[in-house]
Amino acid sequence: MSPEGPARGVEEPEPCLVRGCGAPSVRHLALAEARKAFSELPEKGRRAPLCREHYRAWKKSTKEARTLDRLGW
Ligand SMILES: [Zn+2]
Repeated sequence: MSPEGPARGVEEPEPCLVRGCGAPSVRHLALAEARKAFSELPEKGRRAPLCREHYRAWKKSTKEARTLDRLGW
């Protein structure tokens, strides 16, 4: 049994989950993690594919949260 189709063995990147974006994803995050930065994400699914731009935005927002934590010292 072998599935037929183009590009066998090469999976197309999933589109970015952020509404209105749809760019090819470069990273997958746990959906719960991604929702910390993008609260508008749908709750269905376990993973959130993010494009380069939105991955950076996510990283930035989580980094800021961590920095604030340290300033509390
Ligand atoms: Zn995106």
